[in-house]
This record gives sequence, C-alpha cells and structure tokens, in this order.
Amino acid sequence: MNSPAIVVSVIIPVWNEAGHLYQSLKTIVEFIRQATSYFELIVVDDGSTDETWSILTAASTEIPELEGIRLSRNFGKERALCAGLEHARGQAVIIMDCDLQHPPELIPIMIEQWRLQGVKIVECVKKSRSKESLSYRISTNMFYGLIQKLARQDLRGASDFKLLDRQVVEAWAKMPEKITFFRGMTAWLGFSRVELEFDVAPRIDGKTSWSPISLVNLALHAIVAFTSWPLRLVTIVGMFSFVVAVILSIQTIYMKIAGMAVTGFTTVILLLLCMNSMIMLGIGILGEYIAAIYDEVKGRPRYVVSQRTGVQSMDTGVLN
Ligand code: UDP
Ligand code: MG
Repeated sequence: MNSPAIVVSVIIPVWNEAGHLYQSLKTIVEFIRQATSYFELIVVDDGSTDETWSILTAASTEIPELEGIRLSRNFGKERALCAGLEHARGQAVIIMDCDLQHPPELIPIMIEQWRLQGVKIVECVKKSRSKESLSYRISTNMFYGLIQKLARQDLRGASDFKLLDRQVVEAWAKMPEKITFFRGMTAWLGFSRVELEFDVAPRIDGKTSWSPISLVNLALHAIVAFTSWPLRLVTIVGMFSFVVAVILSIQTIYMKIAGMAVTGFTTVILLLLCMNSMIMLGIGILGEYIAAIYDEVKGRPRYVVSQRTGVQSMDTGVLN
C-alpha cells in the first residue's frame, strides 16, 4: 500500500474555511515544494456547509498532488485527522491547520530535521499565543492544567502541527480506540523527537471553532481516555468517609448509652448534604467511564467518507 514515490503526506482538516482555503493551500504547497516534489496533500473536508468542497474540487485540478476527502457530516477535527492519517501513503506525514496559524515556512525545516537527524517525530510547540482572546487562553490553560494533573502528560504548548515518521503512523494505527485525543496519543507513543518552537500567527480569516464548552468536553474525553485516576479517587474518598462514619457511629452509640441526648440537627443536615454530593460525584465519574466504554464497544467507524476528489478519486471502496 505504501508507495515509495511519496516522501511526505501533508494532512489538513478543514471545516467551513471557504474564505481563505484556496490561498492557504497555494501558500502551503509552495513551501512543501521547497523541500520535495514527491508529496501528497490530503485535505479532509469535515462536513463543511459552505463552499469548501467546491473550492477543493476546483483546486485539485490545479494542484495535481491534492487529494480531497469529504466526510459525510461534521465529525470534529480529531476524526478528520484520523481520516487523513488512514489515507496517507507518505514515508512521513505532516499534520497542520489550514488557517496559516501553523506557519508553513516550518515545513522544509521539519522535513530536513526528519531526513538528516533521523528523528521519528518533529513536534512544533507554541511559543506564544498571539491575538488569542483572554477567555480562550484561560480555558486552554485550565484544560492543560487538568490534563497535567490527572493524566500526568505535559501537553502545554502542544499543537497538532507535527511530522510523524511512517513507523509512528503504523504504531498509531494499532491504537484501536474510537474516541481519539491525538496530542495525547502521540505523546503516549514515545519515539525520538525534536521540538521546533513557533509563534501562533493570527487566524488568516474566520474564527476559531473551539468554544470553552467544547474544550471542557475535550478535556473530559482526554482525562477518561488517559487515566483511571478519578476512579481511584472515588475509592479513596469512600474509604476515608467510611473511617469517619465508624468514628462518628462509635461516638453516637457511646452518647446514647451514656444517656446524653443527641442534639445537632445541623450536623445531620450537613452530613446528609456532604455524603449525597460525594455519592453523586462518584456516580458521575463512573458514568463518564461507562459512557466511554459504551462508545467504544459500539465499534462504529470513526468517520464516514462521502466523496473524494483528486489523485485518489478513481479508487474503489469509498465508504469506510
Ligand atoms: N476543524 C475541523 N473540524 C472541526 C473543527 C475544526 O476539521 O470540527 C479544522 C479547522 O478547519 C482548522 C483546524 O481544524 O483547519 C483547527 O481549527 P481552529 O483554527 O478552529 O482551531 P484553533 O486553531 O483555534 O485551535
Ligand atoms: Mg486555528
């Protein structure tokens, strides 16, 4: 399946980016050509509702290396990335956004590092977050703080702008989970890596698709996917409250025997409230894991392809 002719596959997930897609692709291709002419550009249209797909179809007649994959609906960036990775044939794969926030001038440097130093992953880390709104910065800080505490993965500054050697892609393909958290998965995989710093450029056009709520959702997915620590916490809290319960019971029985009237209605209410909220929290944490297990056992495909354009459009087996 691997064509030795293709050195690099560049994967770009896009969702409603019609405003600047054509210009961005042109710029990106220019920089890839500086490094190699044996490449493929896989653009995954993640169920856009604007002109993105028709622009992509038109661009593929102009850029022979361009392959468009259209998903049947919006599956989210993570799954669009999966679609790109599963279709990539290059000896190395570069993943990047299409809004030029990931500077395409780094592409030749990434390829050089991979070729000359023989590293398996070239990771581009964010140096600054220019022009990102305060609320966005606060929510991403909270998100990475949580991941670091709970999943013990330092993903601060991590981005989805990276080069992966074919060996890494093959290893990634063996991770069967349906709910993916790409940054965490590549960190988990290991392999030799170098880091390149970059400044996050302002978005060329349009606005970010991440809201604080979607970041909280992603954080929960990531925590459930990478650690069972919250489940352990429920057990520890349960054991602690059992010890407290035993002590309080002994005291209550003692007071009853000693004939001292039990006052403290307030204590009863407080204990009820505390215990109930701890039980609810425990059930909630269990629920998160059960929901994740349920999603995995359903075994649905990560994405569904509806159309393809460009170099691969003659292939059969369009549906995944
Ligand atoms: N994207 C996608 N599917 C989605 C949301 C986003 O494919 O459901 C793409 C989007 O077109 C862009 C990349 O993912 O190329 C990053 O999105 P965005 O710029 O909104 O995120 P940010 O840079 O703010 O993290
Ligand atoms: Mg962006």
